[in-house]
Amino acid sequence: MSAQLKPRAETAPLAARLKARIAREGRISVAAYMDACVADPDVGYYATRHPIGAQGDFITAPEISQIFGELLGLWAVAVWQSMGAPKPVVVAELGPGRGTLMADARRAWRSVPQFLEAVTVALIETSSSMRDVQQEALRGAPAPVQWFDRVEDMPQGPLIVIANEFLDALPVRQLVRRGVHWHERCVAVDRHDAFVFTEGDALQAEDLPEAALALDAPDGAILEIRPGVERLMSALAARTSEAPLAALFIDYGHDETGFGDTLQAVRNHAYADPLAASGEADLTAHVDFAALKRNAKTRGLDVYGPMPQGALLLKLGLEARRDRLLAGATPAQRDSILSGAARLTDPRQMGALFKALVLTSDGLAPPPPFGDI
Ligand code: SAH
Repeated sequence: MSAQLKPRAETAPLAARLKARIAREGRISVAAYMDACVADPDVGYYATRHPIGAQGDFITAPEISQIFGELLGLWAVAVWQSMGAPKPVVVAELGPGRGTLMADARRAWRSVPQFLEAVTVALIETSSSMRDVQQEALRGAPAPVQWFDRVEDMPQGPLIVIANEFLDALPVRQLVRRGVHWHERCVAVDRHDAFVFTEGDALQAEDLPEAALALDAPDGAILEIRPGVERLMSALAARTSEAPLAALFIDYGHDETGFGDTLQAVRNHAYADPLAASGEADLTAHVDFAALKRNAKTRGLDVYGPMPQGALLLKLGLEARRDRLLAGATPAQRDSILSGAARLTDPRQMGALFKALVLTSDGLAPPPPFGDI
């Protein structure tokens, strides 16, 4: 089937719904547009497509090599030990995609029976069709699994969180600088019935995030902020008065808060126009690790990193694990083990673009690999 046979953007159900909404309510913010595209429960991207993998729109680290999930699974065990090996403990994955990371992590846990006796898996996933895929991937494996819509819905207790390429899918607000004011960047519909970017009225100072007030912005500068990260940090921090917590976020993004439009759409492994094919392409924006750090620290969490993904995986023992796999591999498997390991760590591939940030509750020992530096 050629790409031309796919429905045109204008006829896609999500685009039609959004256009009706804009006709009713007027322009909507970029954040509202992104939220509908990614997460609309009926016609959004993750509700209607199986996007991850060679057959989908994009590929992620756990789909490239089993070593990724295995090393992060063993990272969770080391963190649990540093918590004093509490029983029970929950390992939660945010946005688990096809469930591959968790399936690989759980296989690695087989070598640590005390951990398997203590652990319950929680998957935070809003898309019911992705939940079906995850259930299939985790069928028959050890350790019970529960699904939740939000972190806030999980019961209290010691918690270890893993999130790969989750934050980038949370909607961003874009603020545009005009003269001395900031305006919400919005989406409207033009005379030709196409989505276009536009700007809302000037925002009042009390509606602005701290970064917008602190930064000296040139005219036309775009500042991206993620309300979902604020909510997530607040939900994680709220748990730390009762029990220990550690969270590992891996995503692509920048170390310092800056200006720029990073909203991007990816379809069939190629960049697409974020305003075309609404709900039919993956829509993400870079993670602002500096903002994430500020937010976590303000809430009393300890922060480690960001560290490049390549460095993290090498320090967690990627080469030793790769060599163990190579020892038992056929010639065809050898190639894919070697190329997968290189793709995850090589700075020209995913090794530097992707970064890892770890948050812990106050008083917990620095988690690996941050403890030894
Ligand atoms: N971590 C996976 C998948 C990343 S894609 C991997 O590395 O392969 C993003 C995932 O987050 C999908 O499973 C998507 O359905 C889920 N998701 C997106 N927005 C979400 C939200 N607000 N809450 C929970 N899950 C969400």
